[in-house]
Amino acid sequence: MDILEKITSLAKRRGFIYPGSEIYGGLSGTWDYGPLGVELKNNIKKIFWETTVQSRDNVVGIDAAILMNPRVWEASGHLDSFTDPLVECKSCHHRFRADTLKNDLCPDCGGELTEPKLFNLLMEASVGVVEGKKQKVYLRGEITQGVHVNFKQVLDSQRVSIPFGIAQIGKAFRNEITPGKLTFRSREFEQMELQYYIKPDEKEARKQIEFWKKERLVWYHNLGIDKKQLRFREHAPNERAHYAKAAWDIEYNFPGGDWNELEGIHNRGDWDLRRHQEYSKKDLRYFDDETKERYFPWTIETSGGVDRAALFFLIDAYREENIGKETRTVLKLHPQLAPYKTAVFPLLANKPKLVKLAQSVYDNLKRRWMVNWDDRGNIGKRYRYQDEAGTPFCITVDFDSLEKNDVTVRDRDSMKQIRVKIEELEEFFHNKLGEF
Ligand code: ATP
Repeated sequence: MDILEKITSLAKRRGFIYPGSEIYGGLSGTWDYGPLGVELKNNIKKIFWETTVQSRDNVVGIDAAILMNPRVWEASGHLDSFTDPLVECKSCHHRFRADTLKNDLCPDCGGELTEPKLFNLLMEASVGVVEGKKQKVYLRGEITQGVHVNFKQVLDSQRVSIPFGIAQIGKAFRNEITPGKLTFRSREFEQMELQYYIKPDEKEARKQIEFWKKERLVWYHNLGIDKKQLRFREHAPNERAHYAKAAWDIEYNFPGGDWNELEGIHNRGDWDLRRHQEYSKKDLRYFDDETKERYFPWTIETSGGVDRAALFFLIDAYREENIGKETRTVLKLHPQLAPYKTAVFPLLANKPKLVKLAQSVYDNLKRRWMVNWDDRGNIGKRYRYQDEAGTPFCITVDFDSLEKNDVTVRDRDSMKQIRVKIEELEEFFHNKLGEF
């Protein structure tokens, strides 16, 4: 089994990721997050928000609607490619206008091509209840536009001045021709983004791109992704999206030595605001109080996928370790990402005194963190079960605990066990985990 198959199987078995609406045969390109998956994803989003919005003075957040006036997508350029018959390479996923190709194989990698289709990236929906009078709308293909159409409202309602950023996390939808690799390429997915508005100046843009590239790379490193597994790749001019003046990807070394995009960092120039002003006829320029100038700021964008990050965190954390004759499967997830921070075990489930004390430890800790309870099987099996879920610490309440008011805390990675006083447990975990 390759690692992706192992992750797919573990993700389903342990409740991280299930195929979408599976009892009806599924729906291609959709995934449902189970009890552990939703915690992992929420942690990613919470950490993104904390590092991007909460800890910065000049970044605010918004949460725009998924459904937008269809004119938004005309202005953004997303409707332009509607009538182009496109083919997509099944291996590198690059898309080409069918009419520009000289032969049947991908010009970039020689891979097999899909049949030409009138490629419609945006998913359609309709608004209204009366048949025949419904309005065609689109499920947003990127969350970015929700920020740009609110640029003026944020300026008017907040005390922000250039440079400043607007962050957002939310769902996006794309009619991907070839969804695959678990959640890597889905038709419904979540993005976490920052649109950072700067002065329209090449030198400033280069400086900001370098700043945000570093910030975002360090963000993944700090959450435990091996440095060797990430790299930057600059897009060639003919590869860039229609809006981009410069584009970099943070790529992850996917199993099999295949580098894949995890996040994009782009200089979108003034494309979005200028186009929205043209289409909406509203003045979206920024007024600089000091210089009394009015101008379109440029945007530096960092655009990451929450689902891709979750998948890469899982792949990166997955280990099979030999201990004696046994192999343990362990997810060495960063503690801030781990779905459960700790699990509490009474040594024996049929000893009411142990259960009662363990229950009080559990009740106390779960006020602050996600804590799991397990009283089935033997302690060794319970450890293995938690290792597979990435739980960084396990607490066992045993007979000594009744006498000495302390417990065993076992570390997932080193498997070392120490005794900690029950009244010191909260501080112990606070030091290890913070508020996560
Ligand atoms: P790709 O070339 O892999 O299709 P993209 O260049 O179209 O990606 P962007 O439009 O830059 O992607 O979107 C920003 C981020 O959103 C990506 O880096 C990725 O993490 C995430 N993303 C984009 N498309 C998908 C998808 N179909 N499924 C899951 N995540 C996605």
